[in-house]
Amino acid sequence: MKWRRSIQIIFLALFVFLIIQGKQQIWILLFLAGLAGALWWGRFYCAWLCPINTTMEIVDGIYRRIGIERLPIPDWVKNKWVRVTMVLIFIATMLSILLTGKKIPVLLLWIIIGTGLSLFFVPALWHRYLCPYGAILNLTGSQARNSFVVDEENCIRCKKCSLVCPAGAIIKENPRDYPFIDKGLCLVCTQCTQVCPKDTIKYGRQQSFTRNVNSHSHSTVN
Ligand code: SF4
Ligand code: SF4
Repeated sequence: MKWRRSIQIIFLALFVFLIIQGKQQIWILLFLAGLAGALWWGRFYCAWLCPINTTMEIVDGIYRRIGIERLPIPDWVKNKWVRVTMVLIFIATMLSILLTGKKIPVLLLWIIIGTGLSLFFVPALWHRYLCPYGAILNLTGSQARNSFVVDEENCIRCKKCSLVCPAGAIIKENPRDYPFIDKGLCLVCTQCTQVCPKDTIKYGRQQSFTRNVNSHSHSTVN
């Protein structure tokens, strides 16, 4: 979607400007706004504002054009303690900045780590298992009032949506199941809606889709 790209570029430029000015701490306000906003709109911060995801999508675009396949997620990364450790490292770094007053460009370091990993591994490794910002956004995103939901009546279970999802947010426990979008993991990137041949993935209030929601009982974090 062209205007999502435009918004991503504007916020990436803002981030670079803040870094140059030595005022990167202002970005934390934007993140907190995204964290609160996720209660209504899901994790839009991730796919629309986050500079880590924007640089990762640049890598994605290049790899897709060239046709390079990346490594799958190693099983040990799926252990929940890996994610907990990443969040603890993030909290410890933020606390040390607060206590020492040192201006460490934390987000810039995470950009280097996230984008660096996406050179070798599928993006879901970062989005679903390693990103500490994503782990925190999962808390409010999993309670979002609005989210993407698959309308099972029209879905032909072609899997195109789950293959394109960069966050591993589209879950099928069995091959014959209809896809289920975990709103705590969804980045609100809209890529699944663009590939669905039946136009059956809709964004809106959960109440509008009670049939789909009630037919699943997935937890939000694996
Ligand atoms: S791409 Fe659309 S039709 Fe295909 S499995 Fe996903 S929701 Fe169903
Ligand atoms: S592809 Fe769809 S389900 Fe996956 S993160 Fe993007 S909007 Fe969410």
